[in-house]
Amino acid sequence: AVDDRIAAIAESIRIIPDFPKPGIMFQDITTLLLDPKAFKDTIDLFVERYKDKNISVVAGVEARGFIFGPPIALAIGAKFVPMRKPNKLPGEVISEEYTLEYGTDKIEMHVGAVQAGERALVIDDLIATGGTLCAAMNLLERVGVDVVECACVIELAELKGRERLRGKPLFVLVSST
Ligand code: AMP
Repeated sequence: AVDDRIAAIAESIRIIPDFPKPGIMFQDITTLLLDPKAFKDTIDLFVERYKDKNISVVAGVEARGFIFGPPIALAIGAKFVPMRKPNKLPGEVISEEYTLEYGTDKIEMHVGAVQAGERALVIDDLIATGGTLCAAMNLLERVGVDVVECACVIELAELKGRERLRGKPLFVLVSST
């Protein structure tokens, strides 16, 4: 059953307090990756949801969106597009800045990776404030891509990142406080 799979996925995620700085409860998905059944179930749950939705683009956010995105893309027959930190992509890029608790950050995507009218899924490991997913969505929409949904393994629900997604649906496996 779906619920059993989700319970095991939730249990496989390790929480490390005060990383990378005091007060942050870091949700460590590397322990999920060490459990082949939990990792496979994670991918399968996304694939079951997205396989018949005519999605041609899976956009994964650096770094942990690069772990979950590609197996989903392969399984649903979509391309994988990396959304990277600044100055990593070698070709011409389009970039989007977003605000953090202190300061700003930026993500970039290759020009020409996607075409106007394509249907995309945006994936990351976790949504906190929603700034990262919102920036990824903005980048795709700026070039005319239809973002069907955003998806994460974990949602930190108390931070209400969902509200920053301008009404775009967000699908998560595990909601954590
Ligand atoms: P945000 O833009 O605030 O939604 O932050 C989401 C990004 O930061 C994701 O790429 C996460 O991997 C990372 N992140 C934020 N908070 C945590 C946390 N408590 N544990 C693990 N990763 C986090």
